[in-house]
Amino acid sequence: MRLRNVKGARENIEMNPYVIKDGEEKKGKWRELFGNDHPIHLEIGMGKGKFLLELAAKNPEINYIGIEKFSSVLIRALQKREEYEGDNIYFLRMDAEHLQDMFDEEEIDQIYLNFSDPWPKERHAKRRLTSKEFLSRYDHVLKKDGVVIFKTDNRDLFDFSLEQVPMAGWKIKNVTYDLHHSEFAEGNIMTEYEEKFSSEGKAICRLIAYR
Ligand code: SAM
Repeated sequence: MRLRNVKGARENIEMNPYVIKDGEEKKGKWRELFGNDHPIHLEIGMGKGKFLLELAAKNPEINYIGIEKFSSVLIRALQKREEYEGDNIYFLRMDAEHLQDMFDEEEIDQIYLNFSDPWPKERHAKRRLTSKEFLSRYDHVLKKDGVVIFKTDNRDLFDFSLEQVPMAGWKIKNVTYDLHHSEFAEGNIMTEYEEKFSSEGKAICRLIAYR
């Protein structure tokens, strides 16, 4: 999802108090920013932020950080953030490759990956957010009992993830190839991509990775 030529996106992000610019300095201190000891959940590749904002509204006792690589996409989430009255959500514009520069060991309680870019070419496999390389980054920042929850409509990416998770030394639970018609459907919050794909009749796959 890359929206081109959003006028003023960079400047707007620069001024926005909910986008953290000095993420490296917050490393180990995110709870100070939120002003409480509540758990911290991340969504990596948040897109326009629908999922995260709905989740944050439902769970005021959880702190959320949305990570998005592109300003032109993040700006859409910031527009939605303007209507949100809670104080439990911040954003980082960054590539998740650098997660360990921003978060201390075990600083994070849960990670969501929703409809991550599939990077279909084999030579780009390391860029997939469920690759063993990315799982190793999550291993550092995620609490030992923390989980990664991954949803996608892309069966190739899902099958790849089912292989990579054990390769990285993690385990898998609650796998479904059709989330919306499964025992796990209740309480599911749909992302922008999920709404689009399920309205086209595509089934949504979901897994939970843990150690
Ligand atoms: N999660 C949203 C949803 O389900 O509607 C957006 C899905 S979109 C296909 C994937 C998003 O992840 C894009 O906005 C993209 O810019 C972002 N993204 C991909 N790789 C990323 C990375 N390494 N770090 C941060 N964001 C990334």
